Amino acid sequence: VKRVYAFGKDAEGNNVTEGNKDMKNILGGKGANLAEMALIGLPVPPGFTITCQTCMEYANANNTWPEGALDTIQEYRLDLEKRIGKRIGDAEDPLLVSVRSGAPMSMPGMMDTVLNLGLNDESVYGLIKHTDNARFSWDSYRRFIQMFSNVVMGLDGDLFENAITAKKLARGVKSDTELSAEDLQELVAEFKQIFSQNVSAEEHPELVVDGAVAFPQNPDVQLKLAIEAVFGSWNNPRAVLYRKQNKIADDLGTAVNVQCMVFGNKGETSATGVAFTRNPANGEKEFYGDYLVNAQGEDVVAGIRNTSPIAELKHVDGLQEAGKELEGVFTILENHYRDMCDIEFTIEQGKLWMLQTRVGKRTAAAALHIAIEMEKEGLITKEEAVCRVDPAQLDQLLHPQFDKNANYDVLARGLNASPGAAVGGAVFSAADAVKAVEEGKKCVLVRWETTPDDLAGMIAAEGILTSHGGKTSHAAVIARGMGAPCVCGVEQLKIDSEKKEAALTGTDIVIHEGDMISLDGTTGIVVLGAVDLVMPELTGDLDTILEWADEYRRLGVRANADNPADAQLSRDFGAEGIGLDRTEHMFLGERKQIIQTFILNEDEEVRKEAVEQLFEAQTGDFYGMFKAMDGLPVIVRLLDPPLHEFLESPRALDVEIARMEATGADAKEIAAKRELMDKIDSMAEQNPMLGLRGCRLGIVYPILPEMQVRAIATAAAKLKKEGLDPKPEIMIPLVSTVKELDKMRGVAERVIAEVAEEQGVELELPIGTMIELPRAAVTADEIATKADFFSFGTNDLTQTTFGFSRDDVEAEFIPQYLAEKLLPYNPFATVDPGVAKLVKMGVELGHEGNPDLVCGVCGEHGGDPDSVKTFHKIGLDYVSCSPYRVPLARLAAAQAAI
Ligand code: PEP
Ligand code: MG
Repeated sequence: VKRVYAFGKDAEGNNVTEGNKDMKNILGGKGANLAEMALIGLPVPPGFTITCQTCMEYANANNTWPEGALDTIQEYRLDLEKRIGKRIGDAEDPLLVSVRSGAPMSMPGMMDTVLNLGLNDESVYGLIKHTDNARFSWDSYRRFIQMFSNVVMGLDGDLFENAITAKKLARGVKSDTELSAEDLQELVAEFKQIFSQNVSAEEHPELVVDGAVAFPQNPDVQLKLAIEAVFGSWNNPRAVLYRKQNKIADDLGTAVNVQCMVFGNKGETSATGVAFTRNPANGEKEFYGDYLVNAQGEDVVAGIRNTSPIAELKHVDGLQEAGKELEGVFTILENHYRDMCDIEFTIEQGKLWMLQTRVGKRTAAAALHIAIEMEKEGLITKEEAVCRVDPAQLDQLLHPQFDKNANYDVLARGLNASPGAAVGGAVFSAADAVKAVEEGKKCVLVRWETTPDDLAGMIAAEGILTSHGGKTSHAAVIARGMGAPCVCGVEQLKIDSEKKEAALTGTDIVIHEGDMISLDGTTGIVVLGAVDLVMPELTGDLDTILEWADEYRRLGVRANADNPADAQLSRDFGAEGIGLDRTEHMFLGERKQIIQTFILNEDEEVRKEAVEQLFEAQTGDFYGMFKAMDGLPVIVRLLDPPLHEFLESPRALDVEIARMEATGADAKEIAAKRELMDKIDSMAEQNPMLGLRGCRLGIVYPILPEMQVRAIATAAAKLKKEGLDPKPEIMIPLVSTVKELDKMRGVAERVIAEVAEEQGVELELPIGTMIELPRAAVTADEIATKADFFSFGTNDLTQTTFGFSRDDVEAEFIPQYLAEKLLPYNPFATVDPGVAKLVKMGVELGHEGNPDLVCGVCGEHGGDPDSVKTFHKIGLDYVSCSPYRVPLARLAAAQAAI
């Protein structure tokens, strides 16, 4: 196996690059794209990449090296030294290298990097001699010790930061750059001391010299330990969490890139920066990013110093040439990758070097805009444009925004780093964010700047607010990736995370923990107090992409909705009908009383009276629904849930009775309550979801489906007389045999005929069934003889296929199943292949029984992009999902078809 790949040029200027951009799984994203940039002639500092597979072998063998791997690395290292004409650790003119992680999928900031490797007590003098810059050389050495100690040895970074602060105090200076070469040389000595005092000799016997731990001077030892640390960082807790969050496989491993250092901190003609070829927040065609003069790479991302916008670069003395060349590189990269790229670069004494590129992360709004513009520019096709937008990401655009009519005072403004609005109580640490959410409270995470350790809190919070850092800072990048609203760089906020408060400079306003704040990541506004939020409309770019998507998709898209407002919203989002109207949702509020009366009374007259009241109410419900969906199909499902769902819980009644007794309530009232409790108890089932529900309910209490069908038919007749075009369809739930359906169909047909007669209108309402039990799927040929349509209820079908209680297992053991990889994903979110097989069988058998059968799906899976692709392949006619998922389903359906 080939474990190491070279990139860049040799001493004669020949390109010796061995990889390319399509080798991400071997070289990681960074390694593959460094190779690609070198291949197309961009200025890339030479180096080599150790494969991801080597990382996994190393990790799987309990952190031991595969046979021969170290020898190969040594060969490539010697070759690199030859290509550059310098040696790592050389006392005269040392080669310094960076050791960087780079996984197949981008995991920004999650894994480790070591810079300036190769410096030691001797080579630092070589660097001084060669650069004629003592200050720069000692600064590089102290940075190396600091990074190596933190990243490779796991020492607390504060140990070193405190020493720097103490040194600045002693010298009476404010910023790091004011420290002299001598100060930095002293710091190097202090750092080495800190290293010796804090690294355990037992854990690192290889570092013991003369009985004590010493900072490693041998570059071989430095390099080996650094590579091992980068490998190890694949399994650090934050990387593991990030992968889980982003559905990235755990067995990919990270590559390690060993690359010649170039320096952005060699004076005023040196700089370093990160940039995007287009604006990743809104997609505008502009160069976007930040740079810092006289700084090293991590300084920009860490948000430690404030940066300048990239567009200014080509106007800065000494940086003009490189700035212009960089803009040329932007164009080359976009044309080559045919996509927006994100870039890291360094300018060393006027010379531009490319350190990284990749297809850039972007917000959903930017993804839409860029796809459309690139199609117009002729860079990509329309099909490609439709495929460039991740359906799951559309969710972001359907995020709440500040209500335009809301009244609020702007407290402060920052950078609009990630769109959407958030409202919540202020929290000042990731742990407090997690805690707040566990307590059921919404929160906004307020930090000076976030670090990878804050990830859990960022996931938990509604939004993120920082007082420092630019649009490419950690908070901004991660928030955009998660679709969480973020405002960053609000410099007026002085945050004291110890005291859990933030003061607004120049005022006496202090935000305390738990105080409600609102932020708008689209505009960068921060407000003290809770601002009303509204949902956005489908306009502009989203509309365009969805129209394009509609040209390609074969699957229809309907919505699950049970009130006119949701029906209207679905229609606005492009739903072509209602695939599921769960009528039990119409029995809430006051209606609950009525259905309770029905359930709890054996007196036929009382029951009839209750049903009459329900009929009136339901007729109104259906009238509203059919009107909102005029001309489009509305599938109304007859009552489905177990009746106990409408009743009070016996346990709650028990508590109430105890309280009544304790407070000496009226004996008669207590007796009545007890009777009620006994009655409800007597109706309790061991497995209500497998009990008296679905069509069984209608068979046991035929008066209920009769009432519902009568209400449907009556509402339709009324609308017809008003000149509208209602299209209701009647759906019988939880059928397992054709006889059940036949019986229910008979009832429905009779009632429809009666209503048509009474009202004097023609009514032809299709009658179909849900396929949500395995027996129904495997006897679909029989069932279809009595059905005009099937709708696959994949929620219940998943429940009954696995025998997993849908109400329990997601909390009980699915997380463990996922962790142990007993399941690849939650089958209640994305349709399982076994369940999909039953759906496929149902569709095929169904068409044998009835060639005109219309087939759809209305379980939660109808709004899941991966499942939509499966349903497309199976050949369903449509998917039906919640209103907010309609746009996403339209897009996923198009991508499935392309
Ligand atoms: C289903 O079971 O998939 C379904 C849509 O019905 P419900 O979720 O209402 O049981
Ligand atoms: Mg169901």
